[in-house]
Amino acid sequence: MKKPEKARHPKLTSLLAFTLSMVIGLSPVLATAASKDLPKLGEAAGATLSVAEEQMIGDRIMTQIRRSQYLMKDPLVTDYIQQLGHKLVAANPDALGRRFQFFIIQESSINAFALPGGYIGIHSGLITESQSESELASVLGHEVAHVTQRHLARRLEQQDKISIPTILGVIASVIAATQDPEAGIAGMSATQAAAQQSIISHTRDNEEEADRIGITMLSSAGFDVRAAADFFETLQQASRYTQKPPEILLTHPLSRNRIAAARERSQMYPQIEYQSSVDYYLVKARIKSTELINSEDSLRLLEKKYSNRQLTSIEDRYLYAELLKSKGKTQKALTVLTDLYKEHPDNHLLLFTLAETHRLNKTSSVILPELTKQLAKTPGSTKLILATAQIYLDNKQPEEAEKLLLRYVDVNQHNPNYLYTLAEAQAQAGHTPEMHETTGQYLLLLGDLRTAKKHFELALNSTSKDPYAQTRIQARLEEVNKKIREILTENARSRFATG
Ligand SMILES: [Zn+2]
Repeated sequence: MKKPEKARHPKLTSLLAFTLSMVIGLSPVLATAASKDLPKLGEAAGATLSVAEEQMIGDRIMTQIRRSQYLMKDPLVTDYIQQLGHKLVAANPDALGRRFQFFIIQESSINAFALPGGYIGIHSGLITESQSESELASVLGHEVAHVTQRHLARRLEQQDKISIPTILGVIASVIAATQDPEAGIAGMSATQAAAQQSIISHTRDNEEEADRIGITMLSSAGFDVRAAADFFETLQQASRYTQKPPEILLTHPLSRNRIAAARERSQMYPQIEYQSSVDYYLVKARIKSTELINSEDSLRLLEKKYSNRQLTSIEDRYLYAELLKSKGKTQKALTVLTDLYKEHPDNHLLLFTLAETHRLNKTSSVILPELTKQLAKTPGSTKLILATAQIYLDNKQPEEAEKLLLRYVDVNQHNPNYLYTLAEAQAQAGHTPEMHETTGQYLLLLGDLRTAKKHFELALNSTSKDPYAQTRIQARLEEVNKKIREILTENARSRFATG
């Protein structure tokens, strides 16, 4: 196997550089990223990058991102961004039939990016710096439009002699560079960096089109259309006091015209005063709490405000509860959260947090009746299912947890958190074949093909005579074998091509 790419960029430490090296580790073909002899992308299917190829590139990158410590895995924030994103997707007829996945990267800079295949990443800093839910939605809409208009895919097609590994490398290094310019660009020569940046940066025309389509989506989905221009001004404000512009501007250039155009365009739509949801404020606070976890000053300040009855906003109260929780002051956190929940009954984020805190406080039986009641109202709520299943596991009722999780496993088959909890329940319940099957699915999702294969084999060997289970596991095994073969074939082809 060739030397991994990371050897050439020893300083690349940020997420996607890591991602790239992991992709290379998984598939030796990608180690030949610099090779000019690889078949040109799209050669087999004609001159264009097919949607399938685009999906494959996106899947590869996403598999690695799922393993990364920078991906926010908290079901509370991931659910929120998925729901907000899909609200916009539903408002765009061009997005029909395409798969979208929204995710959050723990990174304080303001940025968002669309990968091939409908994967849209948002930096946590963009969420905490946004001034309203409509502003956040305007960025998601803009990114969705880049995907439906296939901007990145079309630009990649125009490149001469570009291979999939090169694309992976370009995307990884440029995104890495935007996160940490010193680490990213330092590894490359200036011309190389500029050339790569030009591939991934959207052109003025692309930006214009994404803004135009984005604002239509914003309006159809019922948000405040003025938020797009507002967010641009937030960005401009952010760049005024620093030498370095917000990262998002590196790949989505902002001009004075663009802000004016967004303002002008918003006049063409009905003006709605959109009230940001309670969930928006809670998610913002939840993200902030992870950043302020060690800040004694923040806790002290919130404490003081609370004692003086000056802690009034939902966001600050929830932030206070989260910081108390992280310090082990669960009883006090429960008081703050219970008051909030009384004011916003039926709010699943608050109920999830209450359940979480009760578990830490070893009083989870207190919250179980309320969870059961709310689950009866909205049986498919992933957050409530997970919260309830965890309590069952704490109470040594793994079969109850398994039964509950199995009911909605189909809609959660891309959710690692969900599969992990199910496998745990099955392990505790002593349902070994089922546990192996779920573990296999979980590992497949994380891209660990060989270990996934082992678990499917174990499931097949230990499973009962149930013909349905046998057929299903057989199919999973074939799927993983096919993926392994594809990688081996690519490997052989690239070795042949590079002599
Ligand atoms: Zn853009």
